[in-house]
Amino acid sequence: MDRRFLVKLETTRDNLRFSLESWPEAGLTAQFALAPSTLSPYLEEAMARDDNLVEGGAPQLVSAMKGSLRLQLFGRRLRVAGVFAVRVELACHRCLAVFVHKLSDQFEELVDLIGPGEETEEAELAVVTVDNQFDLTPLLVEQMWLAWPIKVLCRPDCLGLCLNCGANLNEGLCSCGRPLTLKH
Ligand SMILES: [Zn+2]
Ligand SMILES: [Zn+2]
Repeated sequence: MDRRFLVKLETTRDNLRFSLESWPEAGLTAQFALAPSTLSPYLEEAMARDDNLVEGGAPQLVSAMKGSLRLQLFGRRLRVAGVFAVRVELACHRCLAVFVHKLSDQFEELVDLIGPGEETEEAELAVVTVDNQFDLTPLLVEQMWLAWPIKVLCRPDCLGLCLNCGANLNEGLCSCGRPLTLKH
């Protein structure tokens, strides 16, 4: 194991802005911890682009997004492999209770590094490079959306709300006292 490699990993970055100047031929490995305040402008931008992403308003991040990235450059194409974890607040789809959920995933993507105003051709993913600098935060926000659970339950056996009186049935039976039958 290369000692210098280990030493380098001890630093945790608080942003994902990289420079192409003196890019190491072997690629880069980076550990990161992005604060919720760092991520929020990116989240707002991503949500403005697609308002179907998350129902019920902006997602609340209750921890830094932590993880590591391995970056390798092939010409103007970057291979990004990474892992991340972040704690988020979700609202249960059945009982509406808000709870904290740990979102984590791993991914590998090929992105094209393009200049400002440049269009991409085949690759779906592109990162704009300005003055040899590029920012991978939007890519990580994208990966977070991809890992976002479609069906959100506070627990697998959540009983939900009584359809009659709205009581949370996880807290006990309501006074309706009988199972709801379908009305015609
Ligand atoms: Zn629930
Ligand atoms: Zn009830």
